[in-house]
Amino acid sequence: MSSTAGQVIKCKAAVAWEAGKPLVIEEIEVAPPQANEVRVRILFTSLCHTDVYFWEAKGQTPMFPRIYGHEAGGIVESVGEGVTDLKEGDHVLPIFTGECGECRHCKSEESNMCDLLRINTDRGVMLNDGKTRFSKDGQPIYHFLGTSTFSEYTVIHFGCLAKINPAAPLDKVCIISCGLSTGLGATLNVAKPKKGQSVAVFGLGAVGLAAAEGARISGASRIIGVDMNASRFEQAKKFGCTEFVNPKDYDKPVQEVIAEMTDGGVDRAVECTGSIQAMISAFECVHDGWGVAVLVGVPNKDDEFRTHPFKFLCERTLTGTFFGNYKPRTDIPGVVEKYMNKELDVEKFITHSVPFSEINKAFELMLEGKSLRCIIRLDA
Ligand code: NAD
Ligand code: ZN
Ligand code: ZN
Repeated sequence: MSSTAGQVIKCKAAVAWEAGKPLVIEEIEVAPPQANEVRVRILFTSLCHTDVYFWEAKGQTPMFPRIYGHEAGGIVESVGEGVTDLKEGDHVLPIFTGECGECRHCKSEESNMCDLLRINTDRGVMLNDGKTRFSKDGQPIYHFLGTSTFSEYTVIHFGCLAKINPAAPLDKVCIISCGLSTGLGATLNVAKPKKGQSVAVFGLGAVGLAAAEGARISGASRIIGVDMNASRFEQAKKFGCTEFVNPKDYDKPVQEVIAEMTDGGVDRAVECTGSIQAMISAFECVHDGWGVAVLVGVPNKDDEFRTHPFKFLCERTLTGTFFGNYKPRTDIPGVVEKYMNKELDVEKFITHSVPFSEINKAFELMLEGKSLRCIIRLDA
């Protein structure tokens, strides 16, 4: 057993005290794991747009102080009562949506929306006792997505931890714990393009480029990347995008531009922006008769999706996904193996890297549209 098991650990964490204000590296206390919980030493974490969005807290219920972060890799420090399939030293990826293994969703082959551990952005406490495991000088600090990986140590429900091959480099495979799997799965598991079909990808950040990678693996003939940031286009060629559309270059809706390019519409569209306008365009740009559009981006709280019902009558399908429909504990170790077997390139998504002390730089790079994934190193 580790020498710290059962004790409070003091460590560094990047605390968000206020919406949209730089995180502050603080010394905090992390309580031991309770029943069904695991305390994990985080070695590498990266920034996903979902962290930025809730940190900005535009239109969201404010919950501060809070520790964000959900894309990461770490090592189990100690486990709480009732945890049988993880032990000290195991290598794990925290996942923002869990898999209890027992509920109807976990037992269904079609769903990853676990009744107990599905994504919950409003809960800032642990399920076991409704309290936080983080505090500073007695003041509780809220959790985020059940993962809170912007901390040297964190406490996570065992159902939100995928145990992976210990030979996998955590500074690379940490991005499999959200962005890469989400985009890849949105195409491979949900949009399911057939060989030779056309796919439009809205938003060419890491999630969208992983969706494009999924389209390439599926044998798509045309992969049309849509982004308002033209600097993404050159980079996106490495991910299989064959054509580009910048909605800013046209004075008509981008769905009309795409319909003209593709003789009536694309076979599949995957939206990875979080913009409601892009979500509507992604649906309206798929071909009637068979087109499928998949929503991945996290919308604003008050957004409403407006389209004409006739678009559905003409046999278009609209759907969405969390985490690319992967079941975290069942499926993610296999995605890591694909990287180990060189069937999946992870490195090309990693454009930057900063020490933990410079975590705010990762936020700047994402907000400026300069980074895909920036690895934040806590291993020093
Ligand atoms: P990112 O910021 O790196 O990339 C988003 C891209 O979308 C940017 O290149 C931006 O220029 C582009 N964009 C924004 N508005 C646009 C518009 N109207 N039209 C075309 N392009 C537009 O973000 P990311 O980390 O790749 O995440 C993408 C989205 O996926 C975010 O909304 C994030 O919250 C969401 N997400 C969802 C899940 C899930 O499970 N459903 C998981 C992870 C991330
Ligand atoms: Zn994410
Ligand atoms: Zn479940």
